[in-house]
Order: sequence, then structure tokens, then C-alpha cells
Amino acid sequence: MQETELPVGVAIIGGGPAGLSAGLQLVRANRRITVLDSNRPRHAATLRSHGFLTRDGVPPLEVRRLAREEFEAYPTAKVVQAVASEVTPLTRDEAIAVGFPDGIGFRVRGTGVRGAADAEVISRRVLIAAGLTEDLPDLPMIRAYYGTALHSCVECDGFEKSDKPLVLIGETSDLFARALLISRISSDLIVFTNGADTITPAQEEQLSKIGIRVERRQIDDIVGEKADMTGVRLADGEVIPRVGGFVRPRWHAPVEFLGENAIERDDWGLVVVDKRGETSVRGIYAVGDIVPPGPQQIVIAAGDGARVAAKLNMDMIRGALGVGLIDE
Ligand SMILES: Cc1cc2nc3c(=O)[nH]c(=O)nc-3n(C[C@H](O)[C@H](O)[C@H](O)COP(=O)(O)OP(=O)(O)OC[C@H]3O[C@@H](n4cnc5c(N)ncnc54)[C@H](O)[C@@H]3O)c2cc1C
Repeated sequence: MQETELPVGVAIIGGGPAGLSAGLQLVRANRRITVLDSNRPRHAATLRSHGFLTRDGVPPLEVRRLAREEFEAYPTAKVVQAVASEVTPLTRDEAIAVGFPDGIGFRVRGTGVRGAADAEVISRRVLIAAGLTEDLPDLPMIRAYYGTALHSCVECDGFEKSDKPLVLIGETSDLFARALLISRISSDLIVFTNGADTITPAQEEQLSKIGIRVERRQIDDIVGEKADMTGVRLADGEVIPRVGGFVRPRWHAPVEFLGENAIERDDWGLVVVDKRGETSVRGIYAVGDIVPPGPQQIVIAAGDGARVAAKLNMDMIRGALGVGLIDE
């Protein structure tokens, strides 16, 4: 069965810190807001989240629960458990007919999850806060240690790894910068490129000056005893003892609901927005992890959500009056 609602100000796709923070600001501006959330947050792999002032060390799912509770306390807030599957623009006439004064509007379709009904939301604006999906290097046991011994965010999980024998595993060209960042955490670091040619000889020389070794051989797998990581096994069978560290996943902004190539992305596949948070499609905004430059942290996502919510609100106020976009 499908659930159809009254037209809303903003349909927010994604109920993580970015989406719910934007939602909270917008309901407090007397906007009717619907959040569609598939409830598959990237940080579900980890037990504690760090660095969010007033919530340092709290489980990330608890942060989400509190955020949702605060948002849903407002009468114009709604969270729908659904995966947004299609976002299509309304024609100008359709948008005006449903009461959107600037002739901009969207139809957002979602497939219900966990037994919830399918949803259709008609909204003046769309805010994408869908977070990232990530592909880890292709090693059979890596997922077993991801979120415990191995993490992706140095700012989030570095402190707990201070002075330990660490790895950095990745196949992308930003490995050198990440190695420098981790050098603040531990001087016992080995960078594993897994056969990819992503650290230049000059970078390797700079790293060796601060005691960081680069290991270019192919990795076979991560090894461990029960839940504890104990090392990295190379394809030639050598095991290099390590207790944990960092992995650089390849990230992907999950915006298939817009159709192929509908939206501008940068070279990393993240969503390009202007300084107000609007994407290359008029009326569609984006916030949180899917927008550069990061760092990809809860506090940044929540702050971004609040900042872009203010711009969205002003866009709708000005749109109703026909006085253009610029909000000086
Ligand atoms: C292992 C790990 C550990 C981390 N630890 C920390 C930490 O300690 N401290 C910290 O600050 N940060 C940490 N992070 C990063 C933090 O989780 C993110 O920066 C933050 O959650 C980003 O918020 P977001 O709202 O942009 O995206 P997310 O939190 O990823 O939320 C996106 C939401 O959108 C939903 N969604 C996606 N597609 C759709 C769709 N089509 N329709 C409907 N819903 C959709 C998802 O299910 C999800 O609920 C960690 C991340 C990982 C992976």
C-alpha cells in the first residue's frame, strides 16, 4: 500500500545527522518536512562515535535515535521508513496547482522498508542527505575488523589507536595525505598500497624521513585471533604484525534515484553544490558526507545540515515573493 501526504516544504532523503539536523531547523521555521530514511547508516559498523561535542563516546545509533526523537517532537515533522527510489521534477503548472508559488516542485517516490508502506511525497524542494556507501579494498576478512580494529576516519577513531603498530590500507591517490595525518597518532605506521601505484617515490622518501614505511606488495588478507586483528598477510605469504589502523574505502554517493548522470559530481564521485548547498539541479540541495570537502564526521554533517537548512528556507521565502535567490 502507498502512503500519500499533503505537499511538504522539503523532502529530505536520509535520516542521519545531516538530514535530521536540517529537518530540525526547518520544522522550527514552520516548514512541513518529511524525511525518508532507509535506516542503513554507514557508521553502523562501529560501537562508539567520537568527537561530537556533548556526545563523545556515545554509540552512533544512540546519536541517531536522539536526533530523530528531537525532530519528531515537532507537529510538522515526519519520518518515513522508505528508500527513495525516484525523484522527478513537477512541471511548472503542476507545482503551482499544488500550491508551490515559484513553480518548482518534485515528486519523491520511496519503497517502504521494515514493513512500512511505500511513500509518495510532493515537495517544493529536495534535500539529499543520503550519506555515502563505501567499497573496502577487496580482502576476504576486512569487514570482520572494520569498525573495531580498522576505521576510515582518522579524526573520529585515531586517538584510541595512539602509539600502536598501525596500518593504512588504500588504493587511492590521497594515501600520502592520510599517512601524514596518522603520523600524529603513531610513529609505527606502515602504508599498504595493495599493489596500486598511489604513492610517488618522492612521497615515499618524505614518509621514510618520519619513520613511515611503504609496503607496495599485494595483500592476501587481514589476519587475527578471534576478534583481534594481528597482522596483514601479503600475497607471498609473509605476515606483517599489526593491531589495527585505517583503511581508505572508495566512496560512492548513492543518488541513483535521480537517474543516470542527472547531477554534477566531482572526481571523487561526491555531489557538487554551490555555496548555498544547491546541486546542479535547481531546487535539489545536498548535505553531509556526500558533499565535499569533509572531514566526514557527525559534527560536520550536522553543522552542514543546519547551514543549508537556512539557505533552503530563505530560497523558499524569496521564491514565494519572486525576489530571486541571493540572500544578502
Ligand atoms: C566505521 C565508521 C565509524 C565512524 N565513526 C565516527 C565517529 O566516531 N565520529 C564521527 O563524528 N563520525 C564517525 N563516522 C562518520 C559519520 O558516521 C558520518 O560522517 C555521518 O554519519 C554522516 O552523516 P550523514 O547524515 O551525511 O550520513 P549518514 O549518517 O550515513 O546517514 C545517511 C542516511 O541516509 C539513508 N539513505 C541512503 N540512501 C537513501 C535513500 N535512497 N532513501 C532513503 N534513505 C537513504 C541511510 O540509510 C542513512 O540512514 C564514522 C563512519 C564510519 C563508517
